[in-house]
Amino acid sequence: MNKLSLIVPVFNEQDTVEMFYSAIEKEHKNFLEYELEYWFVDDGSSDKTMDVVNKLIEKDDHVHTVSFSRNFGKEAALYAGLEHATGDYIAVMDVDLQDPPTMLPEMLAGVSSGEWDAVGARRTSRKGEPILRSWFSSLFYKLINLMSDTHIVEGARDFRVMSRQMVDAILSMQEYNRFSKGIFTWIGFKQKYLDYENQDRVAGQTSWSFWGLFKYSIEGFIDFSRAPLLLVSLLGGVAFILAVIGAIVVFIRAILYPGTSVFGWPSAVVIILALGGVQLLSLGVVGRYISNIYLEVKNRPIYIAKKVK
Ligand code: UDP
Ligand code: MG
Repeated sequence: MNKLSLIVPVFNEQDTVEMFYSAIEKEHKNFLEYELEYWFVDDGSSDKTMDVVNKLIEKDDHVHTVSFSRNFGKEAALYAGLEHATGDYIAVMDVDLQDPPTMLPEMLAGVSSGEWDAVGARRTSRKGEPILRSWFSSLFYKLINLMSDTHIVEGARDFRVMSRQMVDAILSMQEYNRFSKGIFTWIGFKQKYLDYENQDRVAGQTSWSFWGLFKYSIEGFIDFSRAPLLLVSLLGGVAFILAVIGAIVVFIRAILYPGTSVFGWPSAVVIILALGGVQLLSLGVVGRYISNIYLEVKNRPIYIAKKVK
């Protein structure tokens, strides 16, 4: 019998774990030809999440857990889950039921038929989400697809069913700074997305702040695009050309109208500020890449597990 592993990152989700489990068990009736395996990856929860998970483990020996020593982030949790999964097919899901379990049979069918290596889910609407957040999110997809060679599918969730081969490819990417949306595309293979309407969380609340999402999107740019570096080089080039033109203008003016140069002090201040700004910006962009190199070179583990059950 083929096995489907469900990778479910959980971070302070005491109210949702049980609901998730029963929703999946209910849906499992529609694909009983597959054995199920659950991997709840506890991303350093500080509430009663682990108690709930442990209760499930006692009840059902298909339930497993990796428990982190602290909060390492969802990306690390996904990695840990993929590493431990033993299934022939592997699904990644959020625990808050924003990823509808009813889509599982169709996704599974797509992958097990051999036609697709992964079938994922894409949100077509963002109803129930703050307008500003949706706007920034769509801006992010436009910008990153302009700048990156790796196409990032707009609205794509981490929710997907993948083949074993594809999961092995993901695991072979050992980078510390992880941006799954990019990694999923970067590895290639044949992938399809099913559309669906945004679902609200069943309980609990999102652990992503606006600032958190912003930092995550910057990670996407740094990991999958070198365009910002090109951009600052261009800025430097343009500034240099303007400076040469300016020098010529000043030189000619000094010859034609001797003594007038001294009136130019406000423009001088503006130029100094503009150049200073461009330099600081460029330094910041370059610095961001260096900081990622710094973290990669340290070769720290992606996560530290306290307990595996
Ligand atoms: N999550 C996690 N570590 C974190 C934040 C979130 O493992 O640091 C998990 C969380 O428990 C949930 C999934 O990632 O299963 C998605 O989180 P959330 O619903 O907060 O994000 P949103 O759906 O709002 O993007
Ligand atoms: Mg959610």
